[in-house]
Amino acid sequence: MPTQLRVSRPPCYAPSHRSRVGDDCAHICAVVSRICNSSRLRSSLTGALACASVGRAGACGAGTLIRAWRAPAWWTPDGDKAVRVLRISWSLPGACNRSWGATPVRQRRRRTFGIVLLAGLVLAAVVPSARASASPVEDLIRGCPSSAEVTAIDGDLSIAFESDPTAGTLVCRAADGSVDLTRFEERAYQALHVVKALRFSRPLPWTSADLYTWLVATIDGIRFRADIATSFCCDPVNVIDLLASSNSAALFTNRWMAADAPIGLDDLVALVVHEARHNNGKPHTCNGVDDQTVGELGAWGVEYYLELWEALYAGTFLTSPDVYPSYYRDQHLLKSESTYLPRICSRPTADLSLTVKTPSRNVGRVGGKVSYTFTAANAGVDAAGDVYLYSPMPIGTELVKATASQGSCSAAGGGPIACAVGPLAAGATATARVVLRVNAPSTQTAITNKESEAAFGARVTGPVRDEITTNNSASFSTPIR
Ligand SMILES: [Zn+2]
Repeated sequence: MPTQLRVSRPPCYAPSHRSRVGDDCAHICAVVSRICNSSRLRSSLTGALACASVGRAGACGAGTLIRAWRAPAWWTPDGDKAVRVLRISWSLPGACNRSWGATPVRQRRRRTFGIVLLAGLVLAAVVPSARASASPVEDLIRGCPSSAEVTAIDGDLSIAFESDPTAGTLVCRAADGSVDLTRFEERAYQALHVVKALRFSRPLPWTSADLYTWLVATIDGIRFRADIATSFCCDPVNVIDLLASSNSAALFTNRWMAADAPIGLDDLVALVVHEARHNNGKPHTCNGVDDQTVGELGAWGVEYYLELWEALYAGTFLTSPDVYPSYYRDQHLLKSESTYLPRICSRPTADLSLTVKTPSRNVGRVGGKVSYTFTAANAGVDAAGDVYLYSPMPIGTELVKATASQGSCSAAGGGPIACAVGPLAAGATATARVVLRVNAPSTQTAITNKESEAAFGARVTGPVRDEITTNNSASFSTPIR
């Protein structure tokens, strides 16, 4: 029986901070409680972060320090080095502290189905913007891959399942038009299926080819093994070795990312790209486990840019079906900043910040235009070399134009607004002016680029050491009259 979290307020599990040893427990007590109260999430924690030592809901008071975190190796998609930082995030700590009340509840499908369906119909009828978002990536990976799709991937890459944590049970069958596949095999093919479908509106920084074309040109095959401690490249030559274990991120959920933790098939895609990059003759140049610079575009550097591109340049392909539409994109952005940038040893130190100026008369009307000016600033101390600006496309609007004082902006496929503004010297600013047309249905009361209390809104980001990230996001809300 699946477990579901019933929450008494919007999730505090928001992309705003990375917890580390020494954090004030009061700030993350609520989030940890949520994990501890979820048997599925709890089982993903190992070692020193025992739930008992942190306490269940309400049991860890202000001032208590988290003494030790230990994340499972797969928390970072690369097995090279298990991180000692559990990336748990929150927003509005004051709000989280008091009445966070996450409790696991049993789903009673039969009894609640009619109510959920009715509520869904009512929502769809009166609040069009609240309808479930289409999610191309989830549509792609929901079922089993067809036999033609598996055959095509097998024609490009030799895939060997030498070990399979889900061996013994088939979830896809040749008799149904697929191929006989276990759950793990299905997830592996679906990961490659997504790689094949991903299209970026801006070329990836390390190749002019699309991701799948680069991948099949870079490696000959993938070998899934359980007799290794970490994934690595390559044995035999040109074949990447990926650790197959029962707690593989790809088995955490049947989705691109789980709704309650940003773990899923996307981590397997990132791991494949990482190990394949090693086969481009890119070893880890900092202490054997990290990369020295982002500019060398090593295995960590390309994972950083892959996550950034998945956030900014994949259009609406990676839309979440439920949490909020930009949830996956926000999490990709967060992974780029919090999971992969720390693997780059040498980065400029720069305090990037973002502000947004709304129209002087901050009111929209259907059919009319509204314009916003985003200002990205670098307070130094170093120059930032490669700065990006991101904003979800507000529901109920379409882009008229987006121009930047330097670099260029786009919103391909109706996707997020993405501006590559390039270098930003210490003390410098860059602006982006975004003009939107309001085409909201009459029931929508405002347009906003912050789809949820937990969402980023707009964000300035780049491969820098930015110790102050609380000023990196900005959002607007414009009433529709
Ligand atoms: Zn590596």
